[in-house]
Amino acid sequence: TELSLIRNFSIVAHIDHGKSTLADRLIQSTGTVADRDMKAQMLDSMDIERERGITIKANTVRIAYPAKDGQTYILNLIDTPGHVDFAYEVSRSMRAVEGSLLVVDATQGVEAQTLANVYQAIDAGHEIVPVLNKIDLPAAEPDRVKAQIEDVIGIDAADAIPISAKTGLGIPDVLEAIVTRLPAPKGDRDAPLKAMLVDSWYDAYLGVVVMIRVMDGVIRKGDQIKMMQTGATHRIDNLAVLTPAMRDIAEMGPGEIGVFTGSIKQVRDTRVGDTITHERKPCTTALPGFKPAQPVVFCGLFPVDANDFDPLRDAIEKLALNDASFSYEMETSAALGFGFRCGFLGLLHLEVIRDRLEREYDLDLITTAPSVVFRLHMRDGEVRELHNPADMPDLTLVDHIEEPRIKATIMVPDEYLGDVLKLCQDRRGIQMDLTYAGARAMVVYDLPLAEVVFDFYDRLKSVTKGYASFDYQISEYREDFLVKMSILVNDEPVDALSIMVHRDRAENRGRVMVEKLKDLIPRHMFKIPIQAAIGSRVIARETLSAMRKDVTAKCYGGDATRKKKLLEKQKAGKKKMRQFGKVEIPQTAFIQALKMD
Ligand code: GDP
Ligand code: MG
Repeated sequence: TELSLIRNFSIVAHIDHGKSTLADRLIQSTGTVADRDMKAQMLDSMDIERERGITIKANTVRIAYPAKDGQTYILNLIDTPGHVDFAYEVSRSMRAVEGSLLVVDATQGVEAQTLANVYQAIDAGHEIVPVLNKIDLPAAEPDRVKAQIEDVIGIDAADAIPISAKTGLGIPDVLEAIVTRLPAPKGDRDAPLKAMLVDSWYDAYLGVVVMIRVMDGVIRKGDQIKMMQTGATHRIDNLAVLTPAMRDIAEMGPGEIGVFTGSIKQVRDTRVGDTITHERKPCTTALPGFKPAQPVVFCGLFPVDANDFDPLRDAIEKLALNDASFSYEMETSAALGFGFRCGFLGLLHLEVIRDRLEREYDLDLITTAPSVVFRLHMRDGEVRELHNPADMPDLTLVDHIEEPRIKATIMVPDEYLGDVLKLCQDRRGIQMDLTYAGARAMVVYDLPLAEVVFDFYDRLKSVTKGYASFDYQISEYREDFLVKMSILVNDEPVDALSIMVHRDRAENRGRVMVEKLKDLIPRHMFKIPIQAAIGSRVIARETLSAMRKDVTAKCYGGDATRKKKLLEKQKAGKKKMRQFGKVEIPQTAFIQALKMD
């Protein structure tokens, strides 16, 4: 295809502003997918994405569009994830295209993720076409939102396109704008092959599928290629474009986006951002490489039933094949037995993986408290990363501890601002900035990531009735007075419940945790002390009194079905219990105890 007839673009938006619906409409209105094959949210392929309405993996589709100028253009849409955890995936797919549609819900206006995503598009040098969506709704205020885009983002919105992705209104204007307002890609067909590895995933039938954007040269089926960073060489077995179904093609030239397969064993063998060239006639310089995504949140995953360890390992290995940003290593916990310490890009990523393990692999899991990576500066000068509070070395060996801080941007209607400030303040936040855009406040906080990973989103949503939006970037590591707090149940430390906490907040956290555990642990035949401690110093304590009667005692001689039901319920409950010395702790206690209300 001639370069002048190609347009490559992505759609950036805050979650729920209509990115997927618009993508569907573009695909449908150009007849790329026959109406009978059209299902809502074509590009969101995983079940969990559909259910939650989020897009996790970047995906792509090639659309043929006959424009008003009489020419047929090839439009390549790369769908990018809309969530903060996947900012890295967004940034890399952005580098494969030249322009972006900026979708803003005309009833809501600019939100935190609108800003984060559009800034990434601007960083990638994109031409940007603003699109005002949902104008079918009576609450839509396109003029106000236009002004807001100009004020807050600082781009020209005079020619923003009003649309309804739902009804299809304005879609022809969007297609024309893609052709007339976004630039064609550049590239030299006669130069040595230079292509960017944009993404890769595992397909049960095809093996590893690699998505590429050709910069220069031509790639053909049967070619012997080389990945410049890893040095690996492969034969191109198959070359295809995504429509969104795979359609084989013989060759791809500059500006084109497509996929290839070729005897690659696992996704881990491909490095996103790598440069692909011909083995025999390579290009001289590689594309600027990308940093690999670093896991920032760690937690332990343990099977409730110890017999599930092998199935859990198999499932984790399978998921990891398809997700290079998910890391894992075996972990042994005195309390929970054998399991895995897993690293994630963020909390949503954690939730997605845990959900898939439970649903797709039918595993019952105990998830320990999410923890960030602390940096331990040892007295002997060594710097260690701490992924698990249970591994905290003797304090006398540690000189000081650093923790990751984030720059958080929160946008919220004025009336909830007070509650948001209080929440951030309570989480050791430092206010950096506070500005207004209409009736919405935009507040920027410097916060410890550790205080955000657990239930910050949930709290933010609940104090603002869902009206706040949130985005963050990791800013730096900084020293603070951090200590390890242990929890002892019946005088035995429960390693899975130990956390790293700021010294000034330890008493408070400790008290909350032991009080909660007192409610969460069922009574036993004996008294159970529950304590929080820093080193050997107890900072909070509760005692769970002994149970007086057998649970089923009152049923004896009574209604037989009721008794049976109760026993069944107990049996089901048992499955979710773990034994700690003489004490049984329900698995929900691990998460519940760590919530900060
Ligand atoms: P995404 O998170 O940006 O991908 O947003 P979706 O495309 O999933 O849309 C979020 C919600 O808004 C869905 O319930 C859509 O049906 C709805 N929606 C999207 N576009 C429109 C529109 O133009 N008008 C109306 N009324 N609803 C829309
Ligand atoms: Mg979506």
